Amino acid sequence: MIVEPKVRGFICTTAHPLGCKENVKLQIEYIKKQGIINGPKKVLIIGASTGYGLASRIAAAYGSGASTIGVMYEKEATEKRTATPGWYNTQAFEEYAIKDGLYATSINGDAFSRDVKEQVITRVKEDLGKVDMVIYSLAAPRRTMEDGTVYQSVLKTTEDNYTNKSWNLRDNTISEATVIPATEDEVNATVKVMGGEDWMDWIKALSDADVLEQGAVTIAYSYIGPKLTYPIYYNGTIGMAKKHLHESAERLNQTFANKGIKAYVSVNKALVTQASSAIPIVPLYFAILYKVMKEKGIHEGCIEQIGRLFHEKLANGIAQVDEHNLIRLDDYELKEDIQKEVFEIWDRINSDNILELADIKGYWDDFYRMFGFGFDQIDYTQDVEI
Ligand code: NAD
Repeated sequence: MIVEPKVRGFICTTAHPLGCKENVKLQIEYIKKQGIINGPKKVLIIGASTGYGLASRIAAAYGSGASTIGVMYEKEATEKRTATPGWYNTQAFEEYAIKDGLYATSINGDAFSRDVKEQVITRVKEDLGKVDMVIYSLAAPRRTMEDGTVYQSVLKTTEDNYTNKSWNLRDNTISEATVIPATEDEVNATVKVMGGEDWMDWIKALSDADVLEQGAVTIAYSYIGPKLTYPIYYNGTIGMAKKHLHESAERLNQTFANKGIKAYVSVNKALVTQASSAIPIVPLYFAILYKVMKEKGIHEGCIEQIGRLFHEKLANGIAQVDEHNLIRLDDYELKEDIQKEVFEIWDRINSDNILELADIKGYWDDFYRMFGFGFDQIDYTQDVEI
């Protein structure tokens, strides 16, 4: 089949197998260039197939020679449809890792379920004995509980309507978008999906099954961002979930202190991923941020961020944290000079100057690459096995 991108709003419904493989390969090469570190050796990554989770898997495997077990929720190809990018990424990662003598296995299923937790525990016991690191990088729209109740996460404010500039991805115009407040039930549902409850469930299940090494480290990813996006992000429904995640790290540290387990939240940079493109108003901030950070030579993608997490922020097993026990990979993004410039641009930007003031090309390049498109090395006119 000849696979072309089919973009609908902020999602692409096709993925290119060879392009996804190229994406994985480039990330592996980046980590290899950084050199070997004395890091984790047996790592479980929950949400391992795209974005920050995939980068974490690659950084652990190729940065410190770790055996990795990845959990993801991806769709296989059918006769007519390509698989999801995470499916191809996982296939490619396993192929590279195994060829390079690294243990890699994956479980494709709902990470919220008891069943997947049990499958992972069995796999750890059989193949690795125990794990020394657990990375929690889920970005999910919904969570189904064991009794069948479904919680749906929403991207809304928690106080008043919030209106600001928003970039219309279809035609590169800027208009105003209004984000409306969530009901209490919607806030609670978002916390259920994206808060720390399931992270706690995972660590408890792994600990009860005795598959965590003494002193194992667990890290979940979060975002805070600038004041500009606070009403829709940090003080919005998703922010409530992230605050719950931050509190869960504290709870994990207290609950599992006797096992020496250390739980951290790493606050990462804003980046185009499947999860983040869905948030209103935010993509315009991303495109301006990309422009400013690239001009200053400090732009990073997922792999550069996670490379820095392992090499700097967790060097020699000691986590560098702020006063709230948070690892700050958003340190460059939130630099005063960066934010000052982003806000000056934010005030001036409109439909006429958007191409000049924001990195629209960079945004779309990242977007297409997520689905395996736009790599020079791939001939997209050729038939490919999906
Ligand atoms: P992503 O969409 O690229 O990845 C999500 C991963 O979760 C995929 O591997 C997917 O298969 C998996 N997943 C989703 N639902 C699942 C389920 N029910 N069971 C098993 N696996 C499931 O997202 P991302 O942007 O890399 O986000 C990962 C984490 O990083 C999130 O917590 C997010 O809030 C955080 N983060 C993202 C950004 C950003 O700008 N993208 C910034 C900072 C922090």
